[in-house]
Amino acid sequence: MFIDRAKILIKAGDGGNGAVSFHREKYVAAGGPDGGDGGRGGDVVFVVDKHLNTLEPFRYKKKFLAENGKPGSSRRCSGRSGEDLIVRVPQGTLVREAQSGQIMADLSGDEPIILAKGGKGGAGNQHFATASRQIPRFAKPGTPGESYELQLELKLLADVGLVGFPNVGKSTLISVVSAARPKVANYHFTTLAPVLGVVSFGDGETFVMADIPGLVEGASEGVGLGHDFLRHVDRCRLIVHVVDVSASEGRDPIEDFEKINHELENFDAELAARPQIVAANKCDMAAPEQIAAFRAYAKGKGYPVFEISAATTAGVKGLIAEVAAKLHELPPVRVYEPEFVKPEPLPGAARAFHITLEDGIYYVEAPWLDPIMATINPDDYESLQYFQRVLRESGIIDKLDEMAVKEGDTVDISGFQFEYIH
Ligand code: GDP
Ligand code: MG
Repeated sequence: MFIDRAKILIKAGDGGNGAVSFHREKYVAAGGPDGGDGGRGGDVVFVVDKHLNTLEPFRYKKKFLAENGKPGSSRRCSGRSGEDLIVRVPQGTLVREAQSGQIMADLSGDEPIILAKGGKGGAGNQHFATASRQIPRFAKPGTPGESYELQLELKLLADVGLVGFPNVGKSTLISVVSAARPKVANYHFTTLAPVLGVVSFGDGETFVMADIPGLVEGASEGVGLGHDFLRHVDRCRLIVHVVDVSASEGRDPIEDFEKINHELENFDAELAARPQIVAANKCDMAAPEQIAAFRAYAKGKGYPVFEISAATTAGVKGLIAEVAAKLHELPPVRVYEPEFVKPEPLPGAARAFHITLEDGIYYVEAPWLDPIMATINPDDYESLQYFQRVLRESGIIDKLDEMAVKEGDTVDISGFQFEYIH
């Protein structure tokens, strides 16, 4: 099955928490702080895998989580960093942030792209000793890794797209000019997935040709097969429009040609305006008058026409030479620029909280505070000061003030209750 769209979730690893620990040695009663730092969380990295040609691997596997960083430990040992998670996608995969639909990356090149950055490890208490604070009984928590819901869309990278009705000879053509071997058969829709072929010409030059499954009437309205495949013509620099001039299936080649162009137009006006070369195929079976009539029509419309027989390869060389020459004049394959801007982690932005007043107690709900709470030592003055700073910077204190909290009132944070003191 050919899958060219998928929705997935990616999450980079969280940074590990810093450690609270004190140096201990025989005969040394209490040493200095030696809590190590947490490791950074792994990134989620996308790379192109040229062996893949569909998004099928994303049909069942939907969640991609990189490893968390390990917490720091005593003796200044830093926690191990989380492993990056490598996600392999076919070349030409467009990655959008699912909510906004904005493009985050176009996986067209060879460069790996980091789509979710791992969290930073928290500093261990080894860093918090100062002349006046010799026993820092707190450390910093790691920061969370980035997480996104993504919409993947495969938009094949090809210089030339073959379009035309089913059975006009597209697959036959690509198989005689490249090593691609799509199924060739005398029935409709034999090509169920686009096939890419590398065409060599001249001395060592190449271009990529895509055999796009047959477009049928109504395809651009989503009726029948073909509509979904139009997106794969989207990046093609040039269209080779294949027509069966022999009318071997009883249709009129001129009508065929117009219908297909109409489909392209309906899908995207820009696509219809793409340069087109017409391959008048099955000339071996066509009567000279049929060929002449079609040629006159297409010429009249201003299209370059090549009479070929994909089956016997007659005229194919001339067609490829013209395609190659034309490609030299055309701009390169379109690569989409990223448009998604990662929201700046505003101070406190990711630190949402909710405060409710019940029976005189202010309950603060803030899940992000939990790991911080775990590193706070309520008996340690410095630790409490650090905690206060976090509460102030996140706006929790302001909110409590706004709710008219009074000196001595009870505030509950994750089950940890304390008296409010200004
Ligand atoms: P597609 O659906 O456009 O990919 O068409 P195919 O390449 O599968 O070809 C459909 C049928 O037409 C097959 O039976 C081919 O052998 C036949 N065919 C393709 N090109 C030619 C040609 O130039 N001459 C003749 N006589 N038959 C052809
Ligand atoms: Mg085919």
